[in-house]
Amino acid sequence: MTMDPMASIERHESSVRSYVRNFPTVFEKAQGSWMQDIKGDRYLDFFAGASVLNYGHNHPELKKVLIEYLTGDNITHSLDMASVARAEFLDTFYRLILKPRNMEYQVQFPGPTGTNAVEAALKIARKVKGREKIMSFTSAFHGMTLGSLSVTGNAFKRQGAGLPLTHSDSMPYCNYFGPEHNTIDYIDQMLGDSGSGMDKPAAAIVETVQAEGGVNVADWDWLQGLQEICRRHDMLLIVDDIQTGNGRCGSFFSFEPAGLSPDIVTVSKSLSGYGLPFAITLVKPEYDIWEPGEHNGTFRGHNPAFVTAAKALELYWQDDAFEQVIARRGEMMRSFLERLCSKYPEAEGTARGRGMMQAVEFGNQELASQISHVAFRNKLIIETAGPDDEVLKLLPPLTTEDADLQKGLDVIEKSLVTAMQELGITRKAGSQ
Ligand SMILES: *Cc1c(COP(=O)(O)O)cnc(C)c1O
Repeated sequence: MTMDPMASIERHESSVRSYVRNFPTVFEKAQGSWMQDIKGDRYLDFFAGASVLNYGHNHPELKKVLIEYLTGDNITHSLDMASVARAEFLDTFYRLILKPRNMEYQVQFPGPTGTNAVEAALKIARKVKGREKIMSFTSAFHGMTLGSLSVTGNAFKRQGAGLPLTHSDSMPYCNYFGPEHNTIDYIDQMLGDSGSGMDKPAAAIVETVQAEGGVNVADWDWLQGLQEICRRHDMLLIVDDIQTGNGRCGSFFSFEPAGLSPDIVTVSKSLSGYGLPFAITLVKPEYDIWEPGEHNGTFRGHNPAFVTAAKALELYWQDDAFEQVIARRGEMMRSFLERLCSKYPEAEGTARGRGMMQAVEFGNQELASQISHVAFRNKLIIETAGPDDEVLKLLPPLTTEDADLQKGLDVIEKSLVTAMQELGITRKAGSQ
């Protein structure tokens, strides 16, 4: 083994590296909800690779089908030529996900990452409607390539583009001006007024919960309102379900409880189930007007990822048992966070989230980052979100056993207490 792996990384890897700075140890092994570093220290994972590992690290049954696939000399790379694994993934996805939900989509393999799925979605929407603009939302996050960045809110990420990001209009997300203003009415009026100065967009792209943007939760009726104005103003609705999908927010697609029927849906992150890069763009059949090869790419559908993805669907999405587990664990997380906020009023915390994507925003903007640092010392991996990292975001694997989940929540409380001491946040007079 390399003598000092961290030194090698610091010596050779670009300064753009980021998570390694927040979690400065060298990981070697992982299983389920636990990661282990080279010193043998075990860390409980409440980040799950930003929700790539919804079924945990190295899931034994997914690993088994992957190894069997590899040792059998089954084809690994085949561009988008036909393969057995490809067909089996498509059949399984149709049988277990689309058909039971009465959904009709063509599946596009846009390239292996989330931003590839978003780029494909934006392109096809523009092609269908023959318009340039895309409507996006404040605090949105859709990826780092230029098209995805143009619909992303974060100013720091945007300036990294080094050129103007155009052909998009940012509109206020749900509750952007507080709960008393319905931003759908505002958007509707802007779209309907020939004097608003706004060119009609081809589509709106939205996250049902803005994960990177700070776990901002859109109300169901706001999302239904958005779909309604998209229809009325002849725009497509794109739901970016890359982080919120694959069960994270409670159902396979996050928008199911709202009864939405988006024209285009992007899915990635936990889709392979095993942490293998894999993304799809779902397009309603009537809008699947691509010419063959018009949107191309070398890694459009990776056979090993097809195999683990199909197996993950078989394991978890045959019926609604897993959804019930997610609902129960999500509730366990949420009620813990609400108790935490009332127990420590000086933290000025507010809990929010959906399913097993839960979060707390604190009064002091530095508190969430400090908790993340202290939690790391206490062997819990937990990240922040929001434009100023002001939100503590909980993303444990959905398969985390209740006892481990409780263990992680207890570490959060302990870390909150230490972080407040370190930042000099003191108890308010009158609190217990
Ligand atoms: C992570 C993410 C992306 C980008 O995915 P990459 O694989 O990092 O390109 C896009 N949209 C959302 C909502 C995401 O969470």
